[in-house]
Amino acid sequence: MSWDNSIPCSAGIDLGSTTIKVVLYNSRDYLARIKYASWNPSGIARDLLKSTCSEIGLPGVPSMIAATGYGRKSIDEASCTYTEIACHARGATFLVPGCRFVIDIGGQDAKGIRLTDDGNVADFVMNDKCAAGTGRFLSTMGQALGVHVDHLAKHALGTPPHRINAMCTVFASLHPEPPVVFTGGVSQNADIAERLSQEIGYPVIVPADAVYAGALGAALIAWEQMKK
Ligand code: ADP
Repeated sequence: MSWDNSIPCSAGIDLGSTTIKVVLYNSRDYLARIKYASWNPSGIARDLLKSTCSEIGLPGVPSMIAATGYGRKSIDEASCTYTEIACHARGATFLVPGCRFVIDIGGQDAKGIRLTDDGNVADFVMNDKCAAGTGRFLSTMGQALGVHVDHLAKHALGTPPHRINAMCTVFASLHPEPPVVFTGGVSQNADIAERLSQEIGYPVIVPADAVYAGALGAALIAWEQMKK
């Protein structure tokens, strides 16, 4: 990639429960990088921001940095913070123009976001009380089964679903309209994407960089703020 440092860029940082994502955006290109969050996640976020900037030969860090995610308030470098809802919505509409519904499943929560025609958030539902179906649940199940989370889909594809006799009210209240975009780490499981598509009756789109949708959305919102 030939990044043009003569154009100012913005940064988005998504400090999630499990991973930290950094995206640089300059109106022509974006560059996305990820690291696992362990102890000192704000320090990891700072280092990831710096290493992503030095990768493209940027002296220092962008003047406009927006943070999102669970730990967004802990990033001193951030000029502003935005909710994950706002950032995933913005990132998803950039990756899939015309997107009307976003399903974001990350490390510890799941969200459904309904968008208006022009990409604004109309309403949303969020389950952050129960880990069922989230990345943490899948990686714990993977550990119990001795299967890495990246290989779970391969084992699950084509197997008949188990019937469950109860449904979380959060998911019961989802009525997605197409195009539906799936973001967050769990979107990388092709079997879950396929089963979601079957359940809602529309194809669920998993764009390249779906994992970065929140950080990308933050970088885009920061860019728009910078231009004002
Ligand atoms: P957060 O923003 O909360 O940190 P992410 O959106 O980065 O969460 O998603 C992280 C989660 O994604 C991890 O818990 C991990 O288990 C899950 N994950 C990553 N890759 C896969 C995969 N191939 N299949 C299913 N889950 C995955």
